[in-house]
Amino acid sequence: MKHWAICGTRNAGKYLEIGRNILEEGGSAVDAVEAVIKEVEDNPLDWSVGYNGFPNLLGEVELDASIMIGSTRAAGAVAGIKHYRHPISIARKVMELTPHVLLVGEGAERFAQAIGFSPTDQLYDEEVKIYHQNIMKGKKMLDGLKVPQEIEQLAWRYDKYIKEQLASFDYRGWYLKLSEEYHGTVNVIALDTSGELCSGVSTSGLALKFPGRAGDSPVIGAGNYCDRRYGAAACVGTGELAIRLGLARLVVAYLSMGMSPLDAARKGLQELSLLETSGVLQVLTMDARGQCAAVSNSSTLHYYVATSEEPMVVKKETYHVKLINDH
Ligand code: ASP
Repeated sequence: MKHWAICGTRNAGKYLEIGRNILEEGGSAVDAVEAVIKEVEDNPLDWSVGYNGFPNLLGEVELDASIMIGSTRAAGAVAGIKHYRHPISIARKVMELTPHVLLVGEGAERFAQAIGFSPTDQLYDEEVKIYHQNIMKGKKMLDGLKVPQEIEQLAWRYDKYIKEQLASFDYRGWYLKLSEEYHGTVNVIALDTSGELCSGVSTSGLALKFPGRAGDSPVIGAGNYCDRRYGAAACVGTGELAIRLGLARLVVAYLSMGMSPLDAARKGLQELSLLETSGVLQVLTMDARGQCAAVSNSSTLHYYVATSEEPMVVKKETYHVKLINDH
């Protein structure tokens, strides 16, 4: 039997079986990754991925996603895309049909429409219910963080307030605190029987982000990187930090030096301690042989894995790294 492997973050959970089945039948890593992530994007219970994910400061959902193939290092990504349910599939089309890697906002929407994706503003009934529950949970949390009333009233819609808000309270500090508790992204990495490797990432981004803010997920090298020779890595957490570290690329570079997935992810994440800021990150990584690990500076995470040798999807604990100089 030829070897294959797939791993995914906590929210990929049971959906990993769909990718597992594709790989078991000799399907491609890119098909497996896309199929699993589409399910997560459609899951109404997932409040940080897909169309019913966290909205931005204006109450609008803007999605980010990327996909990368290990043998060619071909990649596609979309950022800040509205009105589409499957940003991962649009990212795949950017990779397959355009000479570009990253399309943003209106341009990404225009591309999606042109190649036949249907825009939607329609959440299913169940999704509407869950969306409102999530907003209420979010509101509670915002109350706890003593958010200025103007934000709750979405005064950020008006330009004149934006400047005043930035000057009058610690927007950066508030946002960092919010992002530590209120975040999530799906990462899936797959190795198929031909030896091809693919990594994919999708998110609605951090809750209440500034309109137009792109996180690490659509930035190749930051939230996603894949090189068939060595392995792949993908990230969850405060995207700004993964961008500043070039984290996914860094972890794959450590793999290329012969480190195990666990050591490579640990060493990559350790860089966070040098940034003199707080924040939560998780790195999921797979080497070229399909060995996986996940490392985070938050203690409560886990991930899922299936391989040709152990095809049942199993839950694994994320390795908790205590950062030297933890803030
Ligand atoms: N990394 C994502 C971002 O920064 C969100 C997250 O994982 O919480 O947009």
